Amino acid sequence: MKFSENSNQAANYLRQAVPKMVEHDIVPNPLNYTLWYSYFSKAYPTLNTALESTVARYGTCPADVSESLFLEHIIKSDDQIHQNNEIQQSLVHLVSDLSCHIENTARETSVYSGALKENIMDLGTAGLSEELTEKLNQLSSNASGLCSANDAFQTQLAQAQSEIESLKQELEKTQSQASTDALTGLGNRRVFERIFAQYANSEDTPMSVVMIDIDRFKAFNDTHGHLMGDQILQFVGKLLKQECPEPITPVRFGGEEFALLCPELEIDNVQAIAETIRTKLSKVAFSNKRTGERIEPVTASFGIATKRSNELLENLVERADSALYAAKNNGRNQVQLAS
Ligand code: GH3
Ligand code: MG
Ligand code: MG
Repeated sequence: MKFSENSNQAANYLRQAVPKMVEHDIVPNPLNYTLWYSYFSKAYPTLNTALESTVARYGTCPADVSESLFLEHIIKSDDQIHQNNEIQQSLVHLVSDLSCHIENTARETSVYSGALKENIMDLGTAGLSEELTEKLNQLSSNASGLCSANDAFQTQLAQAQSEIESLKQELEKTQSQASTDALTGLGNRRVFERIFAQYANSEDTPMSVVMIDIDRFKAFNDTHGHLMGDQILQFVGKLLKQECPEPITPVRFGGEEFALLCPELEIDNVQAIAETIRTKLSKVAFSNKRTGERIEPVTASFGIATKRSNELLENLVERADSALYAAKNNGRNQVQLAS
C-alpha cells in the first residue's frame, strides 16, 4: 500500500480527513478512515475522482460504496495483492500507525476544544446577540464532537488491530500446517520445492537430492499392521532430523518415500550422510509394545543426483529416482548415484 508518509505528513492528512468525514456524516471506521486518508494523501488519483462524485451524488459515501471503492482502488491497485503475508503485515503497521496518529490528534483536539470552551466562557455571552451566542455554542459543541469522533476512531482501530493480529496468527498456523507432514513432523514436498526455488539464482552453489524409499514396506504393513508401519515412518523421520545437519532439509515426499535436499555440499559428503542413515536404520530392531514381539530392522534404498547447470527440480528428482530404482533392482538396502 502507498502509505510511506512521515508522522507529520500523516498527522496532517488525518487533520483534514476527520472534519471531512464529520461533515459528510461518514462512519468513523478503519476502512472509511483509510479511504479519506488516501483521499488527502492523493495516493490513488482515481479514488479521489470516484469519492468526489459519490459525495456530490449522495451527500455522503454510503457503506457499500465505501467498501467497493476500497477494494477497487486501494486493494486492486496494490502490487502486493498476491502476497498475503505482506499485505497483512502492512495492514498491521498501517493500523498501528493510525492508532498512534489518532491518539496524538485526539490529545491536540482535546486541548483545542478545552481552550475554545474557556475562550467562549471568558468572552461571556452577556451583550452578545442571540445569533452570535448560538454560533459560539455550536462551535464549542463541534469541537467536543470532533474529540469524541477521534476517541471512537481510536477504539475501532484498536479492535481492527487485534483482529488483524489474530488473523495473521491463524494464517501462519494454517501455512505451517500446510507445509508440515502430520505423522513425522518433517516438512513436505512443498517445503522441498520452496527451498529449491530459493537457490534458483545461485548456479554456483552445489545442490544434490537424495531420494529414499523404505524397502518392502507393503509386506511390513501386511505382517505387522498399519499402526506399526506408522511408527516406523515416525522413527525414520526422527532419524533423518538427527542425521541431517544444516543446510540439509529432510522431507517426507509421500507415503514411505523421503527426500533430502542438500545444498552447499559436495557429492562425497552427501553420499557419506546417506550411507550413515542407511546403516543406522538397518541396525535398529523394533518391538511391538502390545504383543512384545521383536521386529527385525527395516531397510531403505537411496538414490542421489547432483544438480546440473540450469536443471529443473523435476528433472533432478527424476534422475535421483532412477538411481533409487537401480538400488532396488540391485538388491535394495543400498545407496546408488545417478549417472
Ligand atoms: P519396494 O521395496 O519396492 O519399495 O516395496 P514396497 O512394498 O515398499 O513398495 P510399494 O510401493 O509396493 O508399497 C508401498 C507401501 O507403503 C504400501 C503402503 O501401504 C505403504 N505406506 C504408504 N504410506 C503409508 C503410511 O502412511 N503408513 C503406513 N503404515 N504405510 C504406508
Ligand atoms: Mg515407494
Ligand atoms: Mg518402498
